[in-house]
Amino acid sequence: MPSAQLIDGKAVATDLRAAVAARVGGMYARLGLRPGLAVVLVGEDPASQVYVRNKHKQTEACGMQSFEHRLPADTAQADLLALVARLNADDAVDGILVQLPLPRQIDAQKVIEAIDPAKDVDGFHPINAGRLATGQPALVPCTPLGCLMLLDRTLGAEMAGRHAVVIGRSNIVGKPMAQLLLGRDCTVTIAHSRTRDLAETVHGADIVIAAVGRPEMVRGFWIKPGATVIDVGINRLPPAAAGGKDRLVGDVNFEEAKAVAGHITPVPGGVGPMTIACLLSNTLQAACARRGIDMAT
Ligand code: NDP
Repeated sequence: MPSAQLIDGKAVATDLRAAVAARVGGMYARLGLRPGLAVVLVGEDPASQVYVRNKHKQTEACGMQSFEHRLPADTAQADLLALVARLNADDAVDGILVQLPLPRQIDAQKVIEAIDPAKDVDGFHPINAGRLATGQPALVPCTPLGCLMLLDRTLGAEMAGRHAVVIGRSNIVGKPMAQLLLGRDCTVTIAHSRTRDLAETVHGADIVIAAVGRPEMVRGFWIKPGATVIDVGINRLPPAAAGGKDRLVGDVNFEEAKAVAGHITPVPGGVGPMTIACLLSNTLQAACARRGIDMAT
């Protein structure tokens, strides 16, 4: 049975981090500047704690300054907004990331809109979303940006004119992903929970991006032979056997899809590692833009 080529997100992320570290090193040597990333965590969500720890480690590993702000779960919205205002005004901070989800008493949209768009390294501010949608330079959400980089490496100019189906329409993944694919001249369909005949829609796709949050929902027989499949999903399932470890699976049934697709990302080791690498790249981009430094040098 034929088997798809694996898209190695871990390797691409390692290359991207090394490229960012080299540019950060050059910036420090020439100008004595280190880009700074501030990460704000409210509460004690275990998954968020792991993400924040990894972000901190990788930020320092590539030579940037990492500023961590941990606030209690009962933090008032006004106090979080006051912290964001201080970070907006702090010249050492080039990027601000407020880890989502936020506790119930805080309106996440208000917080996102309080971040200076020039420091919005998550790319969630409406100014950045609007710039992306209108084809202007923007800070782009890290996960779809990582998916695009994997597609650029896998298909390159071959993406033009291809039919891409994005399953999921969140502001964090699906919508910006669709904009990025349009920017590569794909013909884009966005599918969601109300889409009729999802299997048939996906079967028409040369490129499938699954960002649903439903374990192994996309079946192998949905995939057009030779298609490129990018699985954004991260779903934790209980161990297959008693006493075993939890399993991480994507939104695509990997074993089935691998037998049909031309290229596919594994979970873990596909899109996941790209997200933090793109955050570092966005922080460097924000630092260069804010400080008037040519990105290419
Ligand atoms: P959301 O829950 O915000 O969005 C899920 C989307 O999937 C919605 O648009 C929803 O449609 C759609 N959907 C739900 N059920 C179905 C269905 N049965 N058929 C078709 N569409 C459906 O999730 P996110 O976009 O934040 O994340 C998606 C996945 O990506 C998750 O597994 C998440 O863990 C993962 N993720 C991974 C990251 C990484 O670093 N690799 C980072 C961010 C997310 P509707 O709008 O109609 O409700």
